[in-house]
Amino acid sequence: MSNCGLNWNREFDCKLCPRLAASRTLIVFPTPCPPGGLLAIGEAPGVEEDEIGEGFVGQAGRTLDTLLVRHGLERNRDYGVANIVRCRPDGNRKPDKTEIANCLLWLSAFLLRTRPRVLLLVGSTAAEVFLGPGPLHWQIERSRNSPVLLAKDAHPILQPAIRRLHGAVDGIFAIPMPHTSGMAWNRRVSNGKVWREIGEEQVELAVECLEFSHAT
Ligand code: SF4
Repeated sequence: MSNCGLNWNREFDCKLCPRLAASRTLIVFPTPCPPGGLLAIGEAPGVEEDEIGEGFVGQAGRTLDTLLVRHGLERNRDYGVANIVRCRPDGNRKPDKTEIANCLLWLSAFLLRTRPRVLLLVGSTAAEVFLGPGPLHWQIERSRNSPVLLAKDAHPILQPAIRRLHGAVDGIFAIPMPHTSGMAWNRRVSNGKVWREIGEEQVELAVECLEFSHAT
């Protein structure tokens, strides 16, 4: 047993959340980015991810790939992917607070192991976990003024890992963006813009942060 309460022997057969352990087909493990790279983090695996055990392979994941490829970034070479929870919730429900807290133990350990410098937070669940409660459009506005991730805003389970990451480099960045599913993507926000345009702008901001971090 590790000092963070995780039993490493159980990572490949985790049953910390009984309902998720029962509903999943496969645990979807994160794929790392190179150290100092970009990690895209979503909420939970979808149906296709659950079946093949790989994250961001459904339509929403492919949309994100397309956006990042436009900026010259390729998955596994330049960026990695992860989810807040590793098991697919039944009926595509939102994972509950306990499930999120359970799986953040694994995510904290993964962040420390892989040391990303830029987090691209896809959808409101990932944004809330790292940036605190609040509507996504507000989180997005705030990141445009200051994209640096503050440990105090994050879920308490993540805070020690974020502090350690900050200690190793000159700050890590967190950029929230709307979920890339077709339905969410084509909705309009109150200022008349479609989420897709905002998503594209946020990806651009994440790439700028990555370039900045490579230059420092
Ligand atoms: S969601 Fe995470 S913590 Fe919960 S059972 Fe799956 S792997 Fe374990």
